[in-house]
Amino acid sequence: MEDSNRHKGMRKQLAITVENKGIKDINILAAIRSIPRHFFLDIAFEEHAYEDKAFPIDEKQTISQPYTVAFQTELLGVKKREKVLEIGTGSGYQSAVLSYLGARLYTIERHEQLYKKAKAMFRSLGLMGIRSFFRDGYKGLGEFAPFDKILVTAGANQIPEALKEQLKIGGILVIPVGDRASQTMLRITKTGENEFRKEIFGKFRFVPLLEGKNLWSEK
Ligand code: SAH
Repeated sequence: MEDSNRHKGMRKQLAITVENKGIKDINILAAIRSIPRHFFLDIAFEEHAYEDKAFPIDEKQTISQPYTVAFQTELLGVKKREKVLEIGTGSGYQSAVLSYLGARLYTIERHEQLYKKAKAMFRSLGLMGIRSFFRDGYKGLGEFAPFDKILVTAGANQIPEALKEQLKIGGILVIPVGDRASQTMLRITKTGENEFRKEIFGKFRFVPLLEGKNLWSEK
């Protein structure tokens, strides 16, 4: 796929749209202007890649809406060199945003096919700071814990205990929690070994966070 001036123009517009919806972080807006979102979508959606909408990717999953990506990223407040864990690599677009912000990113996906595709994309874009894993994100990534920040990009029915454990003290977990129809965005700050502060943001709709790995393609 090519990245043309037309694509760049559409990205500029998308960044303005996202800014008008309330995103203030200039680095996040710069990420939206820079990252070729059409690379993360099927060719059939190329013309729509810079609309502020979620789209289907393989395995019946979705690439999150750019505004949602920006909103979650802003809640996370990523700083350069921070160790960040993402649950739900999906297309890899959100991973690219976190990497653009200078995170040392670890990302987990439960669908093998999506994991492989995203990993190849990171390599072709030269995003060498991203480490991808084919795992069940419910369990987190114990051998690389603790993390400064953890971002869950699928709708959880509860907060996985492992993720709370794998946060540094002072660390932040952003996770949408609810049922299949709708989830509330939560920001959990770890204030002590077993103490957490919870802040509640708006309603969102993500594909579900599911337990266990999935080896088989569901076409
Ligand atoms: N961040 C992605 C969003 C993809 S949708 C993007 O920008 O495109 C959420 C993803 O979470 C899906 O790919 C789904 O397969 C994955 N997922 C769901 N449950 C998971 C789990 N337990 N561990 C890892 N990934 C999971």
